[in-house]
Amino acid sequence: MRIARFSIDGNVAFGAIEGEKQDELVLDIIKGIPFADFELSGTKVPVGKVRLLPPVLPNKVVAFGRNYAEHARELGHEVPQAPFAFFKPSTSVIGPGDEIQYPSFSQEVHHEAELAVVIGRMCREVPRERVKDVIFGYTCANDITARDVQKREKQWARAKGFDTSCPLGPWVETELDASDLTIQLTVNGQQRQLGRTSEMIHSIEDLIVNISEAMTLLPGDVILTGTPAGVGPLNVGDEVAVTIEGIGTLTNKVVKRG
Ligand code: MG
Repeated sequence: MRIARFSIDGNVAFGAIEGEKQDELVLDIIKGIPFADFELSGTKVPVGKVRLLPPVLPNKVVAFGRNYAEHARELGHEVPQAPFAFFKPSTSVIGPGDEIQYPSFSQEVHHEAELAVVIGRMCREVPRERVKDVIFGYTCANDITARDVQKREKQWARAKGFDTSCPLGPWVETELDASDLTIQLTVNGQQRQLGRTSEMIHSIEDLIVNISEAMTLLPGDVILTGTPAGVGPLNVGDEVAVTIEGIGTLTNKVVKRG
């Protein structure tokens, strides 16, 4: 099931998406929140009549670095032996169609297409065989990075945590085997990144075991699983799109921070 979060007439709700053709998609409004057992209301609205929002409001976004060997190499790094995580704050999250605001303190902002895992239940110290039980679903993410700032500052809070640096969407797909999906990114329609989730060094199971060893994960928390090779610069005016097989396309435009 594809679950979107949206606003209509000033109200925010979740809905299940029906249909296949982009211009014929309809949302069946969900009663309550989708992390528990929920019912569909039967009240339907065309997707074209609503504004899609980030599909979840995470308490935290945990992102893993250098999880595709070719990407680690393109930045001149060794492939890490163990997963390593950093945070992107909740204030970095934006939704499909929202604007990425180019920050004033960087001259080199990069795109990073990533598969995002959405957590469905509160959990800690998740054993490998229970990982699938704590996953709500999957969405597309773009781990927007001020690369110049990342290189000169030891911690990445500013480089990867600035406002609008975490586009998520367009919705969460809850029924998907995410172990071998095509992930690609275009800038102004030209392909820049292409990979498969099967190329991850540390699997989704590894990543969730690793982070839940340290901290409690909450429903709606998001795990970014690393980017394939091909990262590169974004400029003001660019339109950047992340497409993941079986999920959909997350599109955002880059603007100057006003
Ligand atoms: Mg990344």
